[in-house]
Amino acid sequence: MRFIYALPEEIAEGKTTDVYFERTLKTLREEGLDRVEVAAEVTVSALPRDYKWFVFAGLADVLRLLEGKGVDVYAAPEGTVLRPTDYHGVRVPVVVVEGPYGEFAIYETALLGFLASASGIATKAARVKKAAGGKLVLSFGARRTHPAIAPFVDYYAYVGGCDGVSCVKGAELLGIPPSGTMPHSLMVIFRAVRGDHTQAWLAFDKHVSKEVPRIALADTFWDEVEESIRAAELLGERLWGVRLDTPGSRRGDMAAIIKEVKWKLRAAGYDHVKVIVSGGLDEYTIPSLAEAGAEGFGVGSAIANAPFVDYALDIVAVKVEGAWKPIAKRGKYSGRKQVHRCWDCFIDVVSLDGEPPPSCPKCGRAMQPLLVKHMERGRIVRELEPPQKLRERVLAQVGRLEL
Ligand SMILES: [Zn+2]
Repeated sequence: MRFIYALPEEIAEGKTTDVYFERTLKTLREEGLDRVEVAAEVTVSALPRDYKWFVFAGLADVLRLLEGKGVDVYAAPEGTVLRPTDYHGVRVPVVVVEGPYGEFAIYETALLGFLASASGIATKAARVKKAAGGKLVLSFGARRTHPAIAPFVDYYAYVGGCDGVSCVKGAELLGIPPSGTMPHSLMVIFRAVRGDHTQAWLAFDKHVSKEVPRIALADTFWDEVEESIRAAELLGERLWGVRLDTPGSRRGDMAAIIKEVKWKLRAAGYDHVKVIVSGGLDEYTIPSLAEAGAEGFGVGSAIANAPFVDYALDIVAVKVEGAWKPIAKRGKYSGRKQVHRCWDCFIDVVSLDGEPPPSCPKCGRAMQPLLVKHMERGRIVRELEPPQKLRERVLAQVGRLEL
């Protein structure tokens, strides 16, 4: 094997399972219990740090994982934004798998992994996008994660609200053009060999396809203001923006640097030049930089190393003699359930199967069911949605919530 990672077919065969599921399956089979039907639900145990909500993501891979496995799957549409508990403090199920336990026991590990990582990345991207107040956010996270999952990171960074992604394969899966500027290596080589790094901007402008916005990296050797103005003098109207990736050791006050760059560009007649900032940004550092006038942000580590959403899968009912028997471990709510949402108040209420749909505890209006059948007997019955649609769903909901 050339690199250390699981092949897609190995994931599909259950090879990435925790071993205790294999042993459980063997024990159940020997006792003739592996065909016992269960209802198992995925809930969120705890959210990272100060999070109040999360983006439910990763469902498409879960459905592909369970395809052909003889189970039914109910789930919230991917891209739904939720709180871990409902209006009354009951944990909200986001996915329900029903069928013989032996059909899906060894897929629990991978199922939770898909959801935990996709939701963690999408949630962080949504937080960053919200912190940027609608300004441009690009995912530069490919270099901060394992290359095998770099496209996955970019996919869910975009779903969470990023406007573009830097990884070529990630952009390909999204069906969008990749976004990027230029690295310091380009500037260093021009300076070393031609004696002038500013020639790198001209050479880039000469050789790179016209659709690519001209964004000059403006922090390599001189002061950010000097480099930005020089780039504007050389490229004129063709310069779309400058990128400031100021090293940590030179960052006295990044907001102040941005303000000065913006001011002096304007004073020199280059009001059209936008300022993109990158390097160690997250939802906590971005607001002051956005306020200072930066028009865009390249975010890597914060998104690629986003804390994952802590999901758990638990049996909540077992079919005994043809009837569902509610049963769950301590600390979990038993019984098959539906989640209802009032979209006007953004309130969720969990109810037991068979109970009449609740009305909104705040406005009294009818609530809409959130869990939709996505799979029947191993067949996907609800079309998988394109990432653009998921992203719109996320942005529409996050726009109504506080960070
Ligand atoms: Zn309501």
